[in-house]
Amino acid sequence: MNWTQMLDFDRGHIWHPYTSLASPLPVYPVESASGVRVRLQDGTELVDGMASWWCVIHGYNHPVLNEAVQKQLHKMAHVMFGGFTHEPAVELAQMLRDLTPQGLEKVFFCDSGSVSVEVALKMALQYWHAAGKPEKTKFISLERGYHGDTFGAMSVCDPVTGMHTLFSGFLPRNFFAPSPGCGFAEPCLPEHLEKAADLIKQHHREVAAFILEPVVQGAGGMKFYSPEYLNAVKQLCRQYDLLLIADEIATGFGRTGRLFACEHAGITPDIMCVGKALTGGYMSLAAAMCTDRIAEVISSRSPGAFMHGPTFMGNPLACATAVASIQLLLDCDWQKKIMFIEQELRKGLESCIDLPGVREVRVLGAIGVLEMEDMVDTALAQKMFVELGVWIRPFLNLIYVMPPYVADREDVAKLTQAMRYAAENI
Ligand code: PMP
Repeated sequence: MNWTQMLDFDRGHIWHPYTSLASPLPVYPVESASGVRVRLQDGTELVDGMASWWCVIHGYNHPVLNEAVQKQLHKMAHVMFGGFTHEPAVELAQMLRDLTPQGLEKVFFCDSGSVSVEVALKMALQYWHAAGKPEKTKFISLERGYHGDTFGAMSVCDPVTGMHTLFSGFLPRNFFAPSPGCGFAEPCLPEHLEKAADLIKQHHREVAAFILEPVVQGAGGMKFYSPEYLNAVKQLCRQYDLLLIADEIATGFGRTGRLFACEHAGITPDIMCVGKALTGGYMSLAAAMCTDRIAEVISSRSPGAFMHGPTFMGNPLACATAVASIQLLLDCDWQKKIMFIEQELRKGLESCIDLPGVREVRVLGAIGVLEMEDMVDTALAQKMFVELGVWIRPFLNLIYVMPPYVADREDVAKLTQAMRYAAENI
């Protein structure tokens, strides 16, 4: 099959994320990827601004991660986790326990971010069931929140952009507080918290947990909000007996300038989800972590067991890669790298605020966002970016980047120049 035939087949038979098969968005055939560069089949090299949706923090085709995969592959690619355990899983759980906010002692491995959110929701429900409050079955989340595409996760995603209408007959109904109105560097004033506080006060008897993405709302709008808000929600949850679930799937492993975004507020959630960059983008792995108390209560009442157990739970290949990826992160001066990328993003993007059509410019850690007044035509913008030698995939009215941490000054400059060009010309 030559590439024209392959693209024809792809177009006719393969679903890509959020696309129609009747009129699919164009796709670009990739031949290989290395460091910050993705090489297309025709030889075009693109500087990657997406880290393959937050995952590839060390860059592609990394020798250390390649070696970790190969080493583990010679031992075993997979073995069931029911009745077996293995070094990669134990080592990874230890690392996660040591690195995440203090108090998250228990680790449940699962296959993807969405599944870890399902597991987190289930943990909260089983906790209240065991605690003798089975009526606590609802969740509060944030407008513009995004937690994944499975049903439980969808039910706590933004009610407008989160496909609720489409699946309304099936989706559980939850409560939504407005997206926090206080920017990252701003104080959280009483008016910013008012609606969330009202919801908690009114519904706490039926609510199991508040779930949010700490500090950065990703796929729901790339919004950054004040750590003070996060802190205030944590206090309210404690006061009204709600669990707090932090979805660190996008923010975890340094992206916002802290290892985990909860650290900006100095809080420990009751349950926390990690995924995406966990394996450095090599394969799908996620985890839901919780405090001793959650685990103790769940275990204290029939059925005692936590009722979840995916086939690929604790996959050794994925765990070994995650151990190597986290070690790689810790061994480099990651904070300096993130600060450097943040500086370069600011340098390249801040003046874009003067362009007509740009509503807001936001930079935090290794994330840079141009929020436009109007929707961006993804296919058109993507074509423009490929011609400019970068890989940036806008959505809604957002042109944004979160490059691999190994991006150097020229790489970041190439990305920000392309973003400016797109904002001027699209
Ligand atoms: N939560 C957040 C905050 C995410 O950004 C994502 C992925 N975009 C998910 C959950 C779902 O993860 P996955 O795509 O691995 O299922």
